[in-house]
Amino acid sequence: MNITDTHAHLYSSQFDNDRNEMMQRALNAGVSRFFIPAIDSSYMNAMLELEKNYPKNIFLMMGLHPAYVKENYKEELAFVREMIDKRKFYAIGEIGMDLYWDKTFVKEQQEAFKTQIHWAKEKQLPINIHCRDAFDETFEVLESEKGDNLSGIFHCFTGDLEQAKRAISLNMKLGIGGVVTFKNGKIDKFLNEIPLENIVLETDAPYLAPTPFRGKRNESSYLTNVIDKLVDIYGLTFQEIADITTQNSKDLFGL
Ligand SMILES: [Zn+2]
Repeated sequence: MNITDTHAHLYSSQFDNDRNEMMQRALNAGVSRFFIPAIDSSYMNAMLELEKNYPKNIFLMMGLHPAYVKENYKEELAFVREMIDKRKFYAIGEIGMDLYWDKTFVKEQQEAFKTQIHWAKEKQLPINIHCRDAFDETFEVLESEKGDNLSGIFHCFTGDLEQAKRAISLNMKLGIGGVVTFKNGKIDKFLNEIPLENIVLETDAPYLAPTPFRGKRNESSYLTNVIDKLVDIYGLTFQEIADITTQNSKDLFGL
């Protein structure tokens, strides 16, 4: 079994007391590839430490999270630029638009999103998109930047069928995790209309734990609960869901 978690904040302080045990549970469950999104410069050391401890399994992304675009965003972007010039990352992320908490920096968020998309194109890297309460603003940027040289993942996809098709038409895969198991999560109602080739798995750990762990700390071993749900939706075996979604992640990340 070779399951890929395409979005997990395993460097979070929520794992400080039992990170090795958590990693072991994931590996035992067959989850062996972890793509790790950045947030801002304050998390960089913790990300590098995680990579150092699991060099065969951990693959880092670099980027400035939209909810962390504040007064100092130019300095933060300069840090992202410095890091991607210095060493290998597997994607630019997480980047995008978040108008759920705060709309003060909407212009700056769009600017940071665009700048980082340009860097992704330059470095020939996929992007990992965070979009919360901001589908219109996110699609506006993606439409203006679309092309064969831009691909990525719509992380924690929570839109409707039409938005899903639109994201796919823009060369994006849908990141599917705990939300698909929620009673009111809605995406489980139409996902069978989306070919599995467009889907990758993710936890967003420590957030968004799937049923029956909803509300608790999430971790990568719980991806098996997400796969169980996709088995029901697609009528395929557990192994097939694992294989196809891992292949999709390989096509995207080039590894
Ligand atoms: Zn995230």
